[in-house]
Amino acid sequence: MVQNFDALRKKMVETQLIARGIKDQRVLQAMLKVPRHLFVEEALWDRSYGDYALPIGEGQTISQPYMVAVMTELLAPDKDDKVLEIGTGSGYQAAVLAELASKVCTVERIGALGMRARKVLDFLGYSNIAVRTFDGTYGWRDEAPFDGIIVTAASPEVPKPLLEQLKEGGRMVIPIGDKYLQTLMVADKKPGGAVDLKESVKCVFVPLIGAYGFKADGR
Ligand code: SAH
Repeated sequence: MVQNFDALRKKMVETQLIARGIKDQRVLQAMLKVPRHLFVEEALWDRSYGDYALPIGEGQTISQPYMVAVMTELLAPDKDDKVLEIGTGSGYQAAVLAELASKVCTVERIGALGMRARKVLDFLGYSNIAVRTFDGTYGWRDEAPFDGIIVTAASPEVPKPLLEQLKEGGRMVIPIGDKYLQTLMVADKKPGGAVDLKESVKCVFVPLIGAYGFKADGR
């Protein structure tokens, strides 16, 4: 059956985002626009606007729409902002951010995922997104500093290089916790460099694996 993806997307925004308190119109518009189904394999298109995360291969997942909305609303990127994302995965969150910010730099650890994300983002014409494959816990020194940083994998703590590469006045959104459950944290870097850390919702992400994340076996 040929699905009406525009209708599914509209329903997703109304029932999963607006109904649960997402208010930022720019975020809602972006998620109404980005064709989420194209970021998963065709066999999953029917389920791609459902209220859950989905597998994207390599043991990784595309986040639940609500979680993408919450994180984007918390980050609140400005149209002139340069944003860093750690954990490209499917590329969906990067596309949503690219609708709102002037440039998105996104880093993925797994080469096959980074390449696939690049293909979809090229197909959709996102020329303001740079995708690279390396351990994103080091940040992206050549592109720093950033107005905003979003980490879409679970981290045991805030990776130090990321904090260093965040502008004063900038904000980082990152799930902090163990492998099984995390708290979404919002870190505001104040003028002078002090960091104000606030808790948001509980969440479950795949682990951030790297020098400043979890070890490769996930422990
Ligand atoms: N934002 C993605 C979902 C990310 S899932 C989306 O919209 O689809 C988390 C991703 O983080 C996985 O693809 C995983 O491979 C990646 N990841 C884990 N550790 C990483 C690291 N150190 N650097 C970069 N990416 C990492």
